[in-house]
Amino acid sequence: MQVALVRAGTFWSDAGALFGPVPRILWDRLVADEITADHRLGQALNCLLIETPAGRVLVETGIGERLNDKTREMRRYEGDPILPALHRAGFDPATVDIVAMSHLHFDHAGGLLDASGVRAFPRAVIVAQRAEWEIALGTNSRLVASYDQPELRLVRDWGAAGWADGEREVLPGVSVVPTGGHSAGHQAVVIRGRRRTVAFFGDLAMRPWSANPRWITAFDDFPLDSVAVKGELFRQAVAEAWTIVLSHEPRTPVGRLIPDRDRFVYEPVRAPTG
Ligand SMILES: [Zn+2]
Repeated sequence: MQVALVRAGTFWSDAGALFGPVPRILWDRLVADEITADHRLGQALNCLLIETPAGRVLVETGIGERLNDKTREMRRYEGDPILPALHRAGFDPATVDIVAMSHLHFDHAGGLLDASGVRAFPRAVIVAQRAEWEIALGTNSRLVASYDQPELRLVRDWGAAGWADGEREVLPGVSVVPTGGHSAGHQAVVIRGRRRTVAFFGDLAMRPWSANPRWITAFDDFPLDSVAVKGELFRQAVAEAWTIVLSHEPRTPVGRLIPDRDRFVYEPVRAPTG
């Protein structure tokens, strides 16, 4: 089994929103060298391409190619979207068997369609939790703000073929594990190889400081669930020495978690090979 990190461009988020309930005095020194004059932080769109003997799994699709100029400008979205990024990394999108989505927010599900609105991964099954689809296409004005509903309606029927209700092994060694928290149907992806386990916790672990279970973003729709599930997953990650990939970290996206009092610390490692 091989896991490749594929970056589908970058965008910029409000720094305060990324730290949610955490007072600025506790976080501003952490980002002093990267925060912009308009208080934003650069966010990578980290995706994984997992090669297994049974097939290929893509985790996440980034923002994609279908946003208008105004939105592109607002999000300051730059770099290669998922399709050219995959090609550049040597992977043909037509060979992807499964697209595993942590959740369906705009910066994760935007790449399911190509620029012209055709399925970007023609033979793939999209695996997301049924609960995520239901809330993404629902009517709660606070919750739907992070989803691009017109785009999701275009892929709803495609997505329905892969609805998951709970944990599922999508291919041998590759599992989706429901977490909730960040969004109602958010899920983690856990890859168990012979020599190591790699976990992608989606937007429960965006950046190094996410290692503190109580440091959650303003975008977490169910914050108390995020705190609880992060504590459980991170304990398991430590106990089983998992390698972690952060969803939006631009500089040190691969690392591991170290226990630190009642929280954890993220320690970057070099990207694993093999
Ligand atoms: Zn995100």
